[in-house]
Amino acid sequence: MPDLPAETDALVAELDAAVEAHMDWSRRILRCAVLRSTPGDDVLDPMAHTLCRFGAWFTANRGEFEALDPASARRLEQVHQAMHDAIRSLCTQVMAGQPGVTGDLDQFEASQAELINLLANYKTLILSNSVRHDPLTGLPLRYNVESDFALYQKEARRNRSLLYVVMIDVDHFKPINDTYGHQVGDQVLRHVADTLKQGLRADEPLYRFGGEEFLWLLKCKSPEEARKSARRILASVGTTPVPIDNGETLRLTITMGLALAGEMEDLSSAIKRADMALYEGKQSGRNRYVIAES
Ligand code: GH3
Ligand code: MG
Ligand code: MG
Repeated sequence: MPDLPAETDALVAELDAAVEAHMDWSRRILRCAVLRSTPGDDVLDPMAHTLCRFGAWFTANRGEFEALDPASARRLEQVHQAMHDAIRSLCTQVMAGQPGVTGDLDQFEASQAELINLLANYKTLILSNSVRHDPLTGLPLRYNVESDFALYQKEARRNRSLLYVVMIDVDHFKPINDTYGHQVGDQVLRHVADTLKQGLRADEPLYRFGGEEFLWLLKCKSPEEARKSARRILASVGTTPVPIDNGETLRLTITMGLALAGEMEDLSSAIKRADMALYEGKQSGRNRYVIAES
């Protein structure tokens, strides 16, 4: 498996810890029932589900869970609380010298099983989402380009709007690596990705396509609007110098090749035309965009 970004590692470690801690409740309830030993004040607290480590962490990171699967996030919250409610009820009875209630034990067992299952599903989602994203820039990799392209192409046909495939390549990037080292090169790539991302609309996906190449799916109403967007992106990169570690700032430019996707054209054919336009832009001086022949 490729190296995972630190945030993914941290999320997965926290999920693993949550599974282990909530599995351990079977042992803790058994000890409470057999030895009549208190499971701890925090467990008996009516807000126990927010006091446990997972509960506090889940509340703080809820947005991440919502983004991955909102229905499961709500369910996770419910079953986690249900499990802690059942534990509190069981342990309170036992500590008062009463036998536990069957319904509580059933609820504990069912909610524990569902909780563990939901956590395992989230782990799978987080890992598969992570390998689809570039750890350096956080941008999606190529995996979904095909399906996104097909979706937008259909949408463009329906709305009588236009879809351009845009290849973006950083100008003279190799000398940055050669002069300042690979780490600064990485820093520059992150900066370019952020600048591009900020300049695009939220529904216009940007992918890291290869080394210092990005692919942008540009949705617009007219060729003039496409040219305007391309000029805006060129200007935003050109006017946002990158501060690097030694205190210098580097000025950067990009070159772009735009291909208006035909109504039934394959993505690979549109990419090929965008690539040729990009090459033409490089040959004719860089820091510009070129629109491919349809
Ligand atoms: P041009 O203006 O013609 O595009 O020239 P260029 O120097 O940008 O293009 P070239 O294709 O010669 O060099 C691209 C360089 O990008 C070479 C490669 O080592 C570097 N590169 C690719 N991926 C990464 C990366 O993830 N990090 C860093 N630091 N460098 C990378
Ligand atoms: Mg290149
Ligand atoms: Mg380049």
